[in-house]
Amino acid sequence: MVHTRYSIIAPIFNEEGNIDLLYERISQILNSTGETWELILVNDGSRDHSPQMMDDLAAKDSRVKVLHFARNFGHQIAVTAGIDHASGDAVVLIDADLQDPPELIPEMIERWKAGYQVVYAVRSKREGESWFKVWTAKLFYRVINQITAIDIPVDTGDFRLMDRRVVEVLKAMREHSRFIRGMTSWVGFKQTGVNYVRAQRHAGETKYPLRKMLKFAADAITGFSFWPLQVMIYFALGLGILALLAIVVVSVLRVVYGPDFFGGQATTIVLLLLVSSFQLFFLFVLGQYVARIYDEARARPLYVIAQRTNLEPAASSGESVG
Ligand code: UDP
Ligand code: MG
Repeated sequence: MVHTRYSIIAPIFNEEGNIDLLYERISQILNSTGETWELILVNDGSRDHSPQMMDDLAAKDSRVKVLHFARNFGHQIAVTAGIDHASGDAVVLIDADLQDPPELIPEMIERWKAGYQVVYAVRSKREGESWFKVWTAKLFYRVINQITAIDIPVDTGDFRLMDRRVVEVLKAMREHSRFIRGMTSWVGFKQTGVNYVRAQRHAGETKYPLRKMLKFAADAITGFSFWPLQVMIYFALGLGILALLAIVVVSVLRVVYGPDFFGGQATTIVLLLLVSSFQLFFLFVLGQYVARIYDEARARPLYVIAQRTNLEPAASSGESVG
């Protein structure tokens, strides 16, 4: 069997207007590298003519490989299936709607050959997307970077090239709610970006309605941050301090204006604040245990080794191949 140098992965959900042109542009660009390649098309439960078109391409060109999902599993899962099946030394993720120009791939390859293990594409400009989409995307990346420990480059999508070593680590990360650009950042190694202008969709409509965008954002946040569980401690402390202040203020007022000041309300308010504070505090504690269970259940590799000197890979450890 011929060794594959480059694997290109494109998820397909009802992209009948784009598949042929995608194949044409990708094969032209990849042929010009003079090296071997494969194009893995993952049909994510398409209901248009895409499946047939994909099979036709595969029949015509054996470098086109096709996976058909039994139903729609979502973009991130489709990309994952492609990664699992890719055999190239470098793997490129690309959208099928030609918003990501295949012409950028040679530049990514160049960086990869210069020693970078991840080359992500940075959208320096977006064409033909609503201000709502652009604005929510910007906000999203800024929030994500504030509340997570890893740095996800601003304005990047999944369009990226990854070295085989990064791919092997990703394959070991089997979490169900997947946020692939965050997972690639998490892996580490040497990463760099190349700029591009994000084009308009060649044909068809976006397959990411608001509902899917929200789920995507939720997956990103819950997958990489325990902040929503941790923020409770601030509310608990805030309410607790309010309760203490209320006790002091009411005591002083009662000393000055007599014991009937505020009637019975003061006791109720103070108790309400105190009890809420306690409840939030123990919810926070509970959250910390939930976070740990989640962390264990996700079973990510404990660390990723980039290089070894005078050492063989350890036989049994939480280590991921490097
Ligand atoms: N896609 C997919 N499954 C889905 C939604 C989208 O495989 O459930 C694919 C889609 O065919 C395209 C890529 O993911 O190749 C990006 O989707 P889209 O262009 O609709 O997203 P947008 O660019 O609008 O964010
Ligand atoms: Mg698109």
